[in-house]
Amino acid sequence: MKELKLFINGEYVSAKTGNTFENRSPVDNHLVAMVHEAGKDDVDHAVQAARAALSGPWATMTQAVRVKLLNKVAERINERFDEFLEAECLDTGKPRSMAAHIDIPRGAENFKAFSETLVNHPTETFQLNTPDGKDAVNMGHRSPKGVIAVISPWNLPLLLMTWKVGPALACGNTVVVKPSEETPTTTTLLGEVMNECGVPPGVFNVIHGFGPNSAGAYLTEHKGIDAITFTGETRTGEIIMQAAAVGLRNISLECGGKNPGIVFAEADIEKAVEGTMRSAFVNCGQVCLGTERVYVQRPIFNQFLARMKEEVGKLRLGRPEDEKANFGPLVSLEHRDKVLSYYQLAEAEGATVEIGGSVPNMGEEMNAGAWIEPTIWTGLSEDARVVKEEIFGPCCHIQPFDSEAEVIALANDTDYGLAAAIWTENNSQAIRVAQAIEAGIVWVNSWFLRDLRTPFGGAKQSGIGREGGVHSLEFYTELKNICLKL
Ligand code: NAD
Repeated sequence: MKELKLFINGEYVSAKTGNTFENRSPVDNHLVAMVHEAGKDDVDHAVQAARAALSGPWATMTQAVRVKLLNKVAERINERFDEFLEAECLDTGKPRSMAAHIDIPRGAENFKAFSETLVNHPTETFQLNTPDGKDAVNMGHRSPKGVIAVISPWNLPLLLMTWKVGPALACGNTVVVKPSEETPTTTTLLGEVMNECGVPPGVFNVIHGFGPNSAGAYLTEHKGIDAITFTGETRTGEIIMQAAAVGLRNISLECGGKNPGIVFAEADIEKAVEGTMRSAFVNCGQVCLGTERVYVQRPIFNQFLARMKEEVGKLRLGRPEDEKANFGPLVSLEHRDKVLSYYQLAEAEGATVEIGGSVPNMGEEMNAGAWIEPTIWTGLSEDARVVKEEIFGPCCHIQPFDSEAEVIALANDTDYGLAAAIWTENNSQAIRVAQAIEAGIVWVNSWFLRDLRTPFGGAKQSGIGREGGVHSLEFYTELKNICLKL
């Protein structure tokens, strides 16, 4: 049986706890690997290794050499593309076509993009006139923040982890990463790549385990951690924020969403259907930026709904390696229980199930997996829990609206503020509505189009802070002002 160990100080080590947990495939529930569960001592070992590395060769390395090294990491991930792809698909069950297009290449790209940003981003300098006429020069100086705890989720495991590790390392920090217990493999594999590329021991460390009373909590509570960057549920973010409050450690939180899609009568309907299909159903609906609430202007409501149902009917469920399949299982049986409970709740709350709504029959070989049908509901009231709470599954509620003011109010009537998608060919309307939406990112006539130089993060309960481009540099460096009297 394959074992996934911890990666500490450049070596794969067994957890001192002696505990392991199962990693199972969501496709058919077969056992993929046994994973070592880190205890307090293991977490301490990893944090100490990361601290020590802050004053080793990593610290004296020039920025140019560091950047070269991180570019090599990106290249090596791409050279070992098939292994990363296989690992990601085994853990998540997602179609290979998707992981090959998004997860792995973008995961590698994160090591390049942030190095480039760092090299090309200036720090500010001001000259101050002084009463003696001799002036002073103020000079911004960036240094690494120290040891960064990276806590990542399971929906885009490699991509969302390197989205944090890439800039953290580019800025000269060291990291201790706790990937999701559901998807530990690609992060573990990255340890091999770090060694192959000559990244000094202790710069990149991986611990495995769960959240409360396990590796996640031990890591975020550890006094040797200087800052915490987290992607996951809002409730977990609240707990991590409390841990970070002790010792006033800096945090970046990228949390949940209940994102609206708004389709105006002036939309190109086919474009809107194609985009909404992706935003509601890609990755089996397990994308934080996904659309779970769709508002459609009344004149085109019936047409839009009919087209969506037609397209959902064409989704092809199947194993990752099935080239014709474009729809995988949910990540785990536990998550399916949660999503299914919302499917039942929707009916209890009075929804009309337009399509889907239950567990598909996948045949003997796959029925033990975490499969679920893509689902569309209509007819719920705006205060229904299914319309208010993040489900994180392949489902959406579609609702008609009449006016622009009405739909802005509906879109904003949520505790979350991560993303929105607006579909209209009227650019003035698009900008007007985009500006009024309370969210960290608003797409117009597109979805999931990401430029790594732009800010990314959530408003309201969807997060704190922004990462991406120079915003990542802001988080992963300590900015100091040096004032020199001339
Ligand atoms: P989760 O919060 O359950 O877990 C995320 C990570 O936190 C895991 O590694 C988990 O082990 C760890 N964790 C859990 N409890 C902890 C604790 N008490 N202390 C320390 N660590 C703890 O989230 P998930 O189910 O893995 O991911 C799905 C969620 O992530 C959804 O809400 C989704 O919207 C959100 N998400 C947000 C973004 C974004 O960029 N805003 C991106 C992807 C996913």
